[in-house]
Amino acid sequence: MITHEVLNQAPPREGVDEFGTNVPLVEAVARWGRADVPGEAAPAGPSRTHRAGPAVSTLAEIGRHVGAAAFQRDAERANTHPPVLHTHDRWGNRIDEVEYDDAYHRIMAAAIGAGAHTSAWASPGAGANVDRAAAFFLFAQVEPGHACPVSMTHAAVPTLELAASGLHDEWMPRLLSRAYEPALADRVGPREARPAPADRVGPREARPVSRSGAKRSALMGMAMTEKQGGSDVRANTTRAEPTGVDDGWGHEFRLTGHKWFCSAPMSDAFLVLAQAPGGLSCFFVPRVLPDGTRNVFRIQRLKDKLGNRSNASSEIELDGTTAWLVGDEGRGVTTIVQMVTRTRLDCVIGSAAGMRQSVAEAAWHVRHRSAFGALLVDQPAMAAVVADLAIESEAATITAMRLARAYDDDTDGPERAFRRLATAVAKYWICKRGPGHAYEALECLGGNGYTEAFPLARRYREQPLLAIWEGSGNVIALDVLRVLGREPEAFEAFFDVVGEAVGEHAAFDVALAEARAVVRELASDVASSAAAARARELTERLALVLQASLLVQHAPAAVADVFVRTRLEGAGGLLYGALPAGVDTAAILARA
Ligand SMILES: Cc1cc2nc3c(=O)[nH]c(=O)nc-3n(C[C@H](O)[C@H](O)[C@H](O)COP(=O)(O)OP(=O)(O)OC[C@H]3O[C@@H](n4cnc5c(N)ncnc54)[C@H](O)[C@@H]3O)c2cc1C
Repeated sequence: MITHEVLNQAPPREGVDEFGTNVPLVEAVARWGRADVPGEAAPAGPSRTHRAGPAVSTLAEIGRHVGAAAFQRDAERANTHPPVLHTHDRWGNRIDEVEYDDAYHRIMAAAIGAGAHTSAWASPGAGANVDRAAAFFLFAQVEPGHACPVSMTHAAVPTLELAASGLHDEWMPRLLSRAYEPALADRVGPREARPAPADRVGPREARPVSRSGAKRSALMGMAMTEKQGGSDVRANTTRAEPTGVDDGWGHEFRLTGHKWFCSAPMSDAFLVLAQAPGGLSCFFVPRVLPDGTRNVFRIQRLKDKLGNRSNASSEIELDGTTAWLVGDEGRGVTTIVQMVTRTRLDCVIGSAAGMRQSVAEAAWHVRHRSAFGALLVDQPAMAAVVADLAIESEAATITAMRLARAYDDDTDGPERAFRRLATAVAKYWICKRGPGHAYEALECLGGNGYTEAFPLARRYREQPLLAIWEGSGNVIALDVLRVLGREPEAFEAFFDVVGEAVGEHAAFDVALAEARAVVRELASDVASSAAAARARELTERLALVLQASLLVQHAPAAVADVFVRTRLEGAGGLLYGALPAGVDTAAILARA
């Protein structure tokens, strides 16, 4: 028997074009990008076991794809049916396989097929990283967990450039492929018994470039963090012993030790830090060896995480694991930092994407829900909250896209210097702003927001992760200080970019002068504990003037002015929605 009619609940937010409706993103792509993800659509082949539905390659197509009900259902399912580890098969053989729900595979196939991983490398040039960032943003907005391997594969490319030519030439085309082939291409399962290094000494000639049946595509991960130290990778104890074999893939080593966090362990290969005789070094560790047997890569267990549940994050053990040196021995940090800087960029993009999801869901709800006789959106207290959330989201989006633009130019010039500092500054600030933003957006949905039936509970659990991994808050703020001590040209380039808005808003000019003054003050004794204690203050000031500069130049006055007054001048309050008098919330909401 029907006891009541369901009234006053917002309709499902489905069938939305997440690109076209995101005005700040569309504008940023028009300004800095090539306006579309270049390249071919995902190839359909026999080994492509998981289909994403129709291939999506343009941003408009991606926007509609991720806004569709089917993709949203997959996003929910990939998180409510999380990956399962199978260490052994039913007969007791070690297999180290992670089983994912088909929903996860569909999401991955769509993202990889759209080039959200490596399109910027496959077709480089002005705007390539912006278009790729926008594609990554759209997928991560609705399902963030899969973005981890997508990001790591993008980021691994410049480190792989440093590998021996045989390794590079065989693997690079796989990384650039738009095919998604989730299964490992091994023939005989894990290889626990292996020849001792002594049995295999001496130079070997180049390996066969490709075995029949080998995968056309590959995903990559990284494994740096150990139990005794994550940020401080110098504390790594995993050992790397040279075998004496030197082949087309470079110098071969055996790794023994563990990694405490290793995400996406079903990836095809990993960049791993370990202690070689010459010091901490970077190694390429494939899960399947060139002879088709499994490398030793024991997945001990999966982490039980606060969020990010669709993504498997594991603890692994390496035991005589075959690896090849990448870059110079003893220069592991310098080698892998090429990868880390790009995963930091993706943390910024991912956090901005999360803010967009939060604002979009909150704005949708308040436009459909009434309380006390009026739609919530028409009630000033709520309009101020959502407008304030939209401003934060727009500031994050424009910063992420401008930062991505700086990755288009790899020459040793001002853009590269700018991104050295701006990546750390944005990673610190935007990722740290994420959790509070998600919380406030969630509350706009009232009790619904706190339930798993709506996506913002998931988003709330996701956002802190982007602030922790790839360098947590203090580590990043101290990195900013390190740049100040060692790379003053990065500060010059940063202030050149930020200074483009000078003269546009008096309060911005004041804040910029104050930020410069703090920089000068700390530069005089950058190695002191007093400077370290102010690293967060420095980073926050830099982040705010960067965001304000971009908004003042490119956003409507209604948005830029409120940002400057609330974030730089201190007008209003400490929480979202405590805006100063006279703010045009209607104009801001119309844009959101
Ligand atoms: C879900 C998840 C997935 C992950 N996946 C991977 C992966 O695939 N590969 C991988 O290598 N790692 C991965 N990590 C590990 C992650 O990168 C580390 O957890 C992170 O870098 C922090 O290192 P830690 O945990 O050792 O903390 P610590 O380094 O011990 O830091 C603890 C706290 O101390 C602070 N701190 C550190 N140094 C200083 C200092 N000098 N001054 C002041 N404060 C300081 C940090 O900011 C942090 O707040 C993952 C982590 C998570 C949560």
